[in-house]
Amino acid sequence: MIKLGEYRKIVGDEIIDELHLLADRISGKTIQNINSTAVGGGVAEILTRIIPLLKELGVNVGWDVIKGDEKFFVISKKIHNALHSARVEITDDELNYFLDVNQKNAEEIDFYGDIIFVHDPQPAALIEKRNKIGRNWIWRCHIDFSNPNKRIWSFLKSYIEKYDTVVFSAPTFGRDISTKQILISPSIDPLSEKNRDLPEKFIDSVFEGYGIDREKPVITQISRFDYLKDPVGVIRAYRLVKKHMDCQLVLAGGGATDDPEGKKVLKAVMEEAKQDKDIFVLHLSPASHLEINALQRGSTIILQKSLREGFGLTVSEALWKAKPVIASAVGGIPLQIIHGYSGILTHTIEGTAYWIKQLLSDPEYAKKLGENGREHIKDNFLITRHIRDYLLLFLSLYRKEDIVYL
Ligand code: UDP
Repeated sequence: MIKLGEYRKIVGDEIIDELHLLADRISGKTIQNINSTAVGGGVAEILTRIIPLLKELGVNVGWDVIKGDEKFFVISKKIHNALHSARVEITDDELNYFLDVNQKNAEEIDFYGDIIFVHDPQPAALIEKRNKIGRNWIWRCHIDFSNPNKRIWSFLKSYIEKYDTVVFSAPTFGRDISTKQILISPSIDPLSEKNRDLPEKFIDSVFEGYGIDREKPVITQISRFDYLKDPVGVIRAYRLVKKHMDCQLVLAGGGATDDPEGKKVLKAVMEEAKQDKDIFVLHLSPASHLEINALQRGSTIILQKSLREGFGLTVSEALWKAKPVIASAVGGIPLQIIHGYSGILTHTIEGTAYWIKQLLSDPEYAKKLGENGREHIKDNFLITRHIRDYLLLFLSLYRKEDIVYL
């Protein structure tokens, strides 16, 4: 288990000392996180890293996962897609089923927290329990809310407005609601298996294991197999590049237990990839942190060609490794990439292909983008900043003033 003291060499003493001071003030209160999956995707990734560090700081913190059957997760994925402005049909029966499962969880979960910290839409309706038990309720939204489907948003809004505070990841996600809203961007853990330094030999062995040639450029996207991550668009961009320059493409990812669409998307990707021996579609297990780390470090360029995105942790992970990143200008990605300085922002398949060619032809420029990206992540998106923001948020719930400065 990584100890908090080990972050001192990365972020400096002052930041760690401040975390101890803030944590002391919240001792005596229990924070209970609730989400819908223990593994896979950004939320689980963040909770897995933050909770042990909060515990080390002496904060009482727990994590519970709601239970749902496949039908529930199909519906909650549709809701997720609708909030990301994708066109989906969701019937009233489905919304009722979604609420039934939330209600059942509300009856079964032991609500031991003074602060109930609910993540994302899947468990959002647990708030109905508040009438009975009171407490402080925070809804933490990790998804892009800039253009949600109106009907689904108005359905969800009636629950969200019952929370004490709502947390969004990026300024553009803020909504016109009566609840107090604050902005906290997510983070990565520089010392996790996903992000820590790795010996070059290990990186070589991972590439060798998959039969990927490190002598040739490697373009990589790490993501769950999800339409919104546009893996098929990535293959099309690669094909445009491949006409002019020899390179390989790696699409690596697994599933999340709350995402039932993965298999279908993987099938579509395999069909699009056909028999191209330079396309590597890697289906990873949830525990593949070191492999992902090695794939990111050993790649020439990292892509994140999402059509919609929450924050885009994979972008932070790649930039932290000083990699040149080409990513869509969606969700929280523009917070991380200043176009032409800490990476490249694109909007189309053609734009992505153009920039892949540019960066492959100009490795010095690509290197500079990666170096600037690493500094930007270090200053803004590491786990220590995130813990500080959460501690301030928890403390703010016990103050009378309405305005929170983070
Ligand atoms: N990830 C993983 N295994 C996979 C695919 C993704 O561990 O097969 C990780 C990835 O490294 C990142 C997180 O899951 O830490 C994905 O977060 P992001 O914000 O990029 O997207 P989300 O999946 O939450 O939409």
